[in-house]
Amino acid sequence: MFSRQRVELKSDAQLRHMDAAGSILSDALDTTVAAVEPGITTSSLNDIFAQVIEKAGAAPNFLNYHGFPGYICTSVNDEVVHGIPGERMLARGDVLKIDGGCIVNGWHSDSARTVILGSSQEGTAEPADEYLSEVTRQAMWHGIAAFAQAKHIGEVGEAIEAFVRKESGQQLGILEDYVGHGIGSAMHMSPDVFNYATGASGVKIKPGMAVAIEPMLTRGSIDTDVLSDDWTVVTADGSRASQWEHSVARHAGGVWVLTAPDGGAAELSKLGVTPVPIPGG
Ligand code: MG
Ligand code: MG
Repeated sequence: MFSRQRVELKSDAQLRHMDAAGSILSDALDTTVAAVEPGITTSSLNDIFAQVIEKAGAAPNFLNYHGFPGYICTSVNDEVVHGIPGERMLARGDVLKIDGGCIVNGWHSDSARTVILGSSQEGTAEPADEYLSEVTRQAMWHGIAAFAQAKHIGEVGEAIEAFVRKESGQQLGILEDYVGHGIGSAMHMSPDVFNYATGASGVKIKPGMAVAIEPMLTRGSIDTDVLSDDWTVVTADGSRASQWEHSVARHAGGVWVLTAPDGGAAELSKLGVTPVPIPGG
């Protein structure tokens, strides 16, 4: 009998390919984020991202995924995820989510960041948006720290929800319609990685597991709609949303954030976790 959630367990050699894909993705997101400014179109950002991964010899995994037409998802303000790059010009005060990925030797990476155009200090962005993004980012790191030590995958969502509630009370909504996922020889695999406590412990965490941890928070309702382009997910009440995501591996020696250049060391040290490089890397 197969369990309903068969989880792909990677060898260290396979995780090293994922680490290579993660490094290229991290560079591509750095370059793309650096290019964000008022007046730039989301399709220009898509082109910048595409150039970096192609130059590095990686293949796209978003492009043509169920027909998706971009190398990245660009989702602005009330668009939560899966926005299609196009001729939209970004403006001061926008909350942009860039979600990207790539493939090296058949092994996938997936990571997302929120970028706010401007700053509240300069009067060009809303403090509430900065707060939203920062809580989402820290919620992701709390989820990653939980994954580093957890016995079951459900502990990740418990940690994310506990942090968000402790930090913001009921002020911010945690999206339930979209969740994190296993990743490896495909971008989306078992298990689901919920961003809240489901009451179920979920699958056991074993060495060789890799997951994308990606909390999505809103300033209002967690209800979502999909636009007529069949991709773009927006909040039903128009409230702004944030998404942060890293691909993370557990191996025999510990945890390693595949899509962070330092394996997550700087952020995880604040949470008492020391990442361990993939052996042989
Ligand atoms: Mg993603
Ligand atoms: Mg993902």
